[in-house]
Amino acid sequence: MPETTQLAQSSQELTLRELQGTVDNWIQSVGVRYFSELTNLAILVEEVGELARILARTFGDQSSKKTDTTDSLPDEIADVLFVLVCLANQTGVDLTQAIHENLAKKTIRDADRHRNNPKLHP
Ligand SMILES: [Mg+2]
Repeated sequence: MPETTQLAQSSQELTLRELQGTVDNWIQSVGVRYFSELTNLAILVEEVGELARILARTFGDQSSKKTDTTDSLPDEIADVLFVLVCLANQTGVDLTQAIHENLAKKTIRDADRHRNNPKLHP
């Protein structure tokens, strides 16, 4: 059974490093090769748009159409994540290292910013 099929049938934990490997295996076996970075950027924008559509209709002011009923928030978030992982893989970004460094940067930069934001306090 292919690894991705096993994952679809389970809720096993998946580290970012494992996710990058799993997506790479999928690309090599099912996807043939990565789309170019610019194509994946366009796909990322498209997928973010699909996510925005669901959020706008769920939490925003727009009503849903009948055709929106099959949209799935988890699936659309996964679509966005998948393309981001593809972009990380094909540009040599280690997402584990990147998110640790990014959170460290934000922690220092925003140490008091949000706590002192009156808009965040009821
Ligand atoms: Mg989608």
